[in-house]
Amino acid sequence: MQAQGNTSTAADAPPSAGPEIAIVGTGFAGLCMAIRLKAAGIQDFALYEQAGDIGGTWRDNAYPGAACDVPSHVYSFSFAPNPDWSRMFGAQGEILDYLRGCVRRYGLQPHLRLRHAVTSARFDEDSGCWHVHFRDQPPIRARVLIGANGPLSRPSYPDIAGLQSFTGTQFHSARWRHDCDLAGKRVAVIGTGASAIQFVPQVAKTAGAVTLFQRTPPWVLPKLDRDMRPWEKRLFRVLPFAQKLLRTRLYWQYEMRALGMIVNPKLMRTPTAIGKRWIARHISDPALREKVTPRYVMGCKRILLSNDYYPALARPNVQVVTEGIAEVTPRGVRTRDGVEHAADVLILGTGFQVNDVSAPFDLTGIGGARLEDLWRSGGPQAYLGTNVARFPNFFFIIGPNTGLGHNSMVFMIESQVRYVLQCVQMLRARRLRYMDVRADVQSRFNQWLQGRLARTVWATGCHSWYLDRNGKNTSLWPGFTFRFRQRVARVEPADYHLVR
Ligand code: NAP
Repeated sequence: MQAQGNTSTAADAPPSAGPEIAIVGTGFAGLCMAIRLKAAGIQDFALYEQAGDIGGTWRDNAYPGAACDVPSHVYSFSFAPNPDWSRMFGAQGEILDYLRGCVRRYGLQPHLRLRHAVTSARFDEDSGCWHVHFRDQPPIRARVLIGANGPLSRPSYPDIAGLQSFTGTQFHSARWRHDCDLAGKRVAVIGTGASAIQFVPQVAKTAGAVTLFQRTPPWVLPKLDRDMRPWEKRLFRVLPFAQKLLRTRLYWQYEMRALGMIVNPKLMRTPTAIGKRWIARHISDPALREKVTPRYVMGCKRILLSNDYYPALARPNVQVVTEGIAEVTPRGVRTRDGVEHAADVLILGTGFQVNDVSAPFDLTGIGGARLEDLWRSGGPQAYLGTNVARFPNFFFIIGPNTGLGHNSMVFMIESQVRYVLQCVQMLRARRLRYMDVRADVQSRFNQWLQGRLARTVWATGCHSWYLDRNGKNTSLWPGFTFRFRQRVARVEPADYHLVR
């Protein structure tokens, strides 16, 4: 293949032998996979990362106030407890440090291939290998390809007229411009999701004025955050079992939140009352209270935790605008009532391209099947969130329908990594060319999944990123996380075409 001007580039070269296993992404999922492969004695793998550093979502989402909304003692690897978490809910920098510490502790540096953005991968049936192509890097062949690049990695830029015409500074929350001093500035923020509720209180402290454009108010509950006490850290160091106990307690506490989501949405009445009291406690203006009170069943969209969001909205320099946005102008944001809200800086807290039909990169499987085409017609789907029929030896970590609205994603990642490891071991032990999940198995699994999802809180009528453009929930696991772990505990060879 020739690049423009007859100059061939590294990316055009024929694929050379790469590692046996290519892992795409270095967030929690990719690193967990790598650590578990090493622990199983498998060394022939590489981690391909498009950025210049590891960390995934915890590298990219460096906006002020970024922190986890699941307690760090349970939002961390079970095999790598950190007794030194400074707070119940670790901040972004601390979580990134934790991941960097894991890279060092498990000797992953030699396996890292930074600045390797995968653009496409094609399965070669004869050799049973994936040909993996990168932007500006020579392609490689790998027997196994693991997509661990996460569902929340591609920022979503809203389709609002005039967005490009804005003459001030504009950026997305996942691409924060730390060089942009907000002190005294007029800042417009679009979006009131999990990211915005964390950065708006920080921005409001220094900005001259904040105009927050809210399309749908989120349900926000108190965040039971606190500093970890020095004696607790000492205890966890000398008695790791004590930290394990805390982790177990937190796991079950969060697991119980699923009851109202998957068993009976009526169980959301108590947390709804708490949410309303939380609004009343911090916001005295009845008009503002009315604006920020959601009208949908709690849990239908992600439940957010914050102690400073409502107090920030009540500040005199913050205005919540609920009139729909008509367009972005060179000087600010014009709402449908014709008012132009002037701004120096425009921050997009508009989330990620989760249910975009496109696959994470251009993936071509058996017989030229393109994942993007399959997903465009039927929506994203996989078997156990891991395999897709006709894409052999390809495994997702956090693939379709493995997301959660109630507990730690690290639990899901560890469960799925165990499953993928078993698959890799089976490929090796049985000397298989490839394993390809049976289409009927995948289809039955997805029928079951959608049947379950229809009875959950996520199907009570709100609009959320959990649903694709056809209203199908292709993001979330419809049950308890321990049920997922049970489902993926053992690879069933009969679920696959095993080809020697
Ligand atoms: P998000 O939850 O998808 O929120 C996006 C916000 O932008 C919503 O308020 C949405 O309004 C609004 N929006 C999108 N397009 C718009 C448009 N054209 N006009 C007006 N408003 C628009 O995104 P996020 O806040 O970045 O969070 C995404 C996910 O990341 C979370 O659900 C969570 O899973 C994860 N996250 C986790 C943490 C953590 O602490 N662990 C922190 C941040 C994010 P609508 O609601 O009306 O669609």
